[in-house]
Amino acid sequence: MERIKFSPPLYKQRYYFVIDLIMKSQPKKVVDLGCADCSLLRKMKFQQCVEELVGIDINQQVIRENMYLLSPLPCDYLNPRIRPLIIKLYQGSIIEKDPCVKNFDMASCIEVIEHLELSMLEAFSNVVFGYMTPHTIVISTPNADFNRLLLGLTGFRDRDHKFEWTKTEFQNWALDICVRYEYSVTFAGVGSGPAGTEDVGFCTQIAIFTRMPARNDRWPNSNADCDDIHSYKLLHEVKYPSYCDKNIFENALINEMTYWTEKIKKHFLNSTEQGDTKNNVQQDQESNEDVSWCSRSMEKHCVNWSVCKSADGYLEVQKHGDTIHIPLDQLFTILEVKKICSSVVRLKEALLEIEQFEIAGDNLVVCICDNEK
Ligand code: SAH
Repeated sequence: MERIKFSPPLYKQRYYFVIDLIMKSQPKKVVDLGCADCSLLRKMKFQQCVEELVGIDINQQVIRENMYLLSPLPCDYLNPRIRPLIIKLYQGSIIEKDPCVKNFDMASCIEVIEHLELSMLEAFSNVVFGYMTPHTIVISTPNADFNRLLLGLTGFRDRDHKFEWTKTEFQNWALDICVRYEYSVTFAGVGSGPAGTEDVGFCTQIAIFTRMPARNDRWPNSNADCDDIHSYKLLHEVKYPSYCDKNIFENALINEMTYWTEKIKKHFLNSTEQGDTKNNVQQDQESNEDVSWCSRSMEKHCVNWSVCKSADGYLEVQKHGDTIHIPLDQLFTILEVKKICSSVVRLKEALLEIEQFEIAGDNLVVCICDNEK
């Protein structure tokens, strides 16, 4: 019998399984129970749907040694998130209650339950399914049936494992949980054996529990009496830069508006100097210019229409004497503006609040007096 080699390694397959679940169910609040060195949390933080990420482990040293890996990087400041993200790491035991993880959308508990004494499992189920009550809970544990395929293995897969369950044992436990706490469950796994061993199942067995829709109505505010007891210790808390932060949002918007208004002003100043002609199609001559212009004078109405063509699309602006009117819905076609502001209404509200911008109706008004002259 040959030694089985999992590719990608089994631990990564487990993490990808959880990430895949996050991508499918789009949870906002996720807690990783038994997060150890925060490896899974470091993958979860890239999921844009997640706004609150919590890790809990009984071993505070392993958290302390790795927690800074979850801090924002310079690139996170350069490219802020659309939605907020706060990450909190706690030292605590998952057989104890703490309101900081109540009613999350998703909880993961990857290769942890087998580290608990069998006598503690009752308290674990009561805390997770009866008190925390996340909408989805994904639990993985070794499949003891698979152990006979693991060459040279005697006893458990890890010295700290208190038990390893067969498929039947795990599924019976999970089904019993469902009856008692009003959850449903599906079974899956990662790490397949060689052809012909399919009946053994996966090397890692996984249960995905989903809370029954009416469960919380029937169990209103279960265990609320424990809500004052805080048994977890907060070790680390970080907030990621996001456009939900007023300063970051306004700075990004000011940068973007300044870039475009300067470009538009420059075009009009140049075309005045060159004596703009009717139906003139003008390519900006400067090197690395990323826009081109098409201008049309309508002398009868004393209005100059100009169309600025950029990678994002067209920006149709009007010149009235010394001012340029840029319709807000045109500005909203700029990809970066669309990313920062979720709607034209939000763009207008934000520009109205920023003193340096003038809004008339649904236009941004820019004066083209040449300050340098
Ligand atoms: N989930 C991680 C780590 C698995 S190792 C991963 O998949 O990589 C098991 C982890 O569970 C260890 O870090 C251990 O400290 C933690 N653990 C064990 N008992 C615990 C308890 N009662 N409460 C919280 N964490 C516990």
